[in-house]
Amino acid sequence: MRKPKIVILGAGYGGLMTTVRLQKHLGVNEADIVLVNKNDYHYETTWLHEASAGTLHHDKVRYDIRDVIDRSKVDFVQSTVVEIKKDEKKVILENGEVEYDYLVIALGGEPETFGIKGLKEYAFGITNVNSSRLLREHMEYQFATYNMEEEKDDTRLTIVVGGAGFTGIEFLGELTNRVPELCHEYDVDQHKVKIICVEAAPTVLPGFDPELVKYAVSQLERKGVEFLIGTAIKECTPEGIFVAKGEDEPREIKAGTVVWAAGVRGNSVIEKSGFEAMRGRVKVQPDLRVPGFNDVFILGDSSLVINEEINRPYPPTAQIAMQQGEVCARNIAALVRNKQDLEEFKFDNKGTVCSLGEDDAIGVVFGKKITGASASFMKKVVDNRSLYMIGGAGLVLKKGKFNIF
Ligand code: FAD
Repeated sequence: MRKPKIVILGAGYGGLMTTVRLQKHLGVNEADIVLVNKNDYHYETTWLHEASAGTLHHDKVRYDIRDVIDRSKVDFVQSTVVEIKKDEKKVILENGEVEYDYLVIALGGEPETFGIKGLKEYAFGITNVNSSRLLREHMEYQFATYNMEEEKDDTRLTIVVGGAGFTGIEFLGELTNRVPELCHEYDVDQHKVKIICVEAAPTVLPGFDPELVKYAVSQLERKGVEFLIGTAIKECTPEGIFVAKGEDEPREIKAGTVVWAAGVRGNSVIEKSGFEAMRGRVKVQPDLRVPGFNDVFILGDSSLVINEEINRPYPPTAQIAMQQGEVCARNIAALVRNKQDLEEFKFDNKGTVCSLGEDDAIGVVFGKKITGASASFMKKVVDNRSLYMIGGAGLVLKKGKFNIF
């Protein structure tokens, strides 16, 4: 009898978790499992702010996919997904195509620029290893160039961060630690460096506990960050940005580096493949399948799951993507064994910790608010836990964070 073919697209948190769980649940003779990913490595997206600021080398945030999959059960294909032909049950890859019986789409998200002019062209993103490496090198180039110029342009040393959500704040935390190192390395007076965070919403870290937000803002301000809250970026240019508060006339802020860290949308493959989506995210059924397509599951940043308590979508997080991966693997194993009664995904919120640099953080863990060294310790525990869930103790020993005291 022909074995069913399970194809998993994306080896991020959701896709890799589905793969390692499926290889445990299913025997070699029960199904063929194919994992497709753009690169031959997985990167910890939740650590990219460190690689981007230059406080952690990019090789520390990635590991070889082949090291964590069981190659006797999973066929790994390194390729880029171009489109999904859902009616023909096949995936078009950059260099071929693959057919499926069950499909898992876990291709992550892409930056949402809300149509703001110039952002795509001139702002840096914190989205993958390549973009992080580019941003780190660009900032170093600005510092290195500054002292080479006869007529010094201080705005070269201005760094603007668009967005004071999770990604923006975690990046600012690392940046405020990195800037003194850069100044020392390139003989630059630290007073010449400006770090400005622009946020359109009326608060930093919307949805976070106000007391913790106050702590985060005062810690970052103390380390030199200037916050422009309730202020929108209207345009990004090669020289900087234009911002405005309300109906005010836009004003220019010249900057050598602009980073866009606000907003995530689903992977563009979703819309290109004709799935019904909101900002590229598909509202999945409780069993994580796409309405109308019983053989297609969507996880992570490309999926949309409603928090029934507030009737709003959960923000996309690694925590949700990994939990979805576990449920998805169990559901596919059930389908392979001809069981139609599938498990419903229920998000079990274990808490949130937002880092403010190497040794500081804020968070709510098991309902308790934490700040400073204890929150920073918890952040590293969370980071190591995700390694453990995918690759066990061996991966934690190889890639884990142990500078916890
Ligand atoms: P990802 O983990 O992004 O993986 C997607 C995979 O698909 C990648 O391997 C990518 O290379 C691959 N891929 C993409 N397109 C293609 C294609 N066309 N063809 C082939 N392969 C492709 N969440 C938390 O829970 N806690 C945090 O502390 C936290 N901190 C964050 C900090 C930063 C700086 C950022 C950027 C995000 C943070 N998040 C955090 C959010 C979290 O990282 C995402 O929600 C999570 O990565 C989503 O997982 P995913 O499986 O959907 O996608």
